[in-house]
Amino acid sequence: MAKKDYYEILGVNKNATDDEIKKAFRKLAKEYHPDVNKDPGAAEKFKEIGEAYSVLGDSSKRKQYDQFGSAAFENNAGGFGGFSGGFSGFDFDDLDLGSIFEQFMGGTFGGRSRTNTKRATRGEDFLIKMDLTFEEAIFGTEKKFDISIDERCFDCNGEGGHNAETCSQCHGRGRVITEQRTILGMFQTETTCPYCKGQGKIFKKSCSTCRGKGVVKQKKNINLRIPKGVNSGDQMRMSGKGSAGLNGGPNGDIYIEFKVKDHPLFKRDDNDIYLEVPLTITEAALGCTKKIPTIHGTEKYSFSSGTQSSEQIRLKGKGIYSEKTKSTGDMYLITKVIIPTKLDRKQKSLLNDLDDTDLDEDVVFRQYNKYL
Ligand SMILES: [Zn+2]
Ligand SMILES: [Zn+2]
Repeated sequence: MAKKDYYEILGVNKNATDDEIKKAFRKLAKEYHPDVNKDPGAAEKFKEIGEAYSVLGDSSKRKQYDQFGSAAFENNAGGFGGFSGGFSGFDFDDLDLGSIFEQFMGGTFGGRSRTNTKRATRGEDFLIKMDLTFEEAIFGTEKKFDISIDERCFDCNGEGGHNAETCSQCHGRGRVITEQRTILGMFQTETTCPYCKGQGKIFKKSCSTCRGKGVVKQKKNINLRIPKGVNSGDQMRMSGKGSAGLNGGPNGDIYIEFKVKDHPLFKRDDNDIYLEVPLTITEAALGCTKKIPTIHGTEKYSFSSGTQSSEQIRLKGKGIYSEKTKSTGDMYLITKVIIPTKLDRKQKSLLNDLDDTDLDEDVVFRQYNKYL
């Protein structure tokens, strides 16, 4: 066996404190745990880390190691308890130092096993993408739709079979222990019982309705009330309406995500509405009262004389009411003065007459002309 530097393996220096060693080990063990790290070398590395820590983590062994090097341990597998490569004895979920160490040190697995390893699993979530018209989103609506969803099997009550018997291979534990002899000594590996697949029981008769799955696909009618003011990207959650959980696990949820279609006239920004209002040159110059479409119906608005293009006029509270935020947006009118592109003879002559007046006496022109 090659001489191993346990400090190097754990990436700490020779003067590292017990705490630093423990920390380094924890970090590496998590990184190289074969349940997580699928690299071909990971298992070997994991073993090496365990070996290093079994020595450096024990102050008397560490002293011995500092004096004699790893040779003091290599011919004595019993020295660190025949730590093993049996990684399947615990779940990564509850990975903690104790359980890893127990495994390295050849501790018993029995205390950690469950009598029934059939896990409660939460049912699947559903995401439904739903298109809404501009109006549906603003004013809310009701939508009916069907989805095909896993429901708990009514025939076997979700068990997957009838007339259960305790598994004779694992005696209901769902897990079995195998012993292996290695150069480091005997060690035990605990795995899921292959016979009952971890359920701890065998059904005399598999459920024919669900084919042993415990759930059956069923069409479900969903009646959804969509609140006022939803917008693209908003999601609604129907809690517990998703697929049935397994082995007593909770149901999943249904999520509905909205995509709101654009309106040909109104532009939406959150709960505000923007509307471009076209004005003729005379309407803009002389002022006018115009009909304005709003999402709440037609209204009248008076534009003052001398209205310019791109003016922004706020109509407070004429926007969208949102049930979510319990607030109402505003409406903004954006003026756009349209310069005529087709003029008849009369219009041309009127405009020529107008041009003969001193329209360019306006302050804007004066400022401009100063630089000519
Ligand atoms: Zn079994
Ligand atoms: Zn069934």
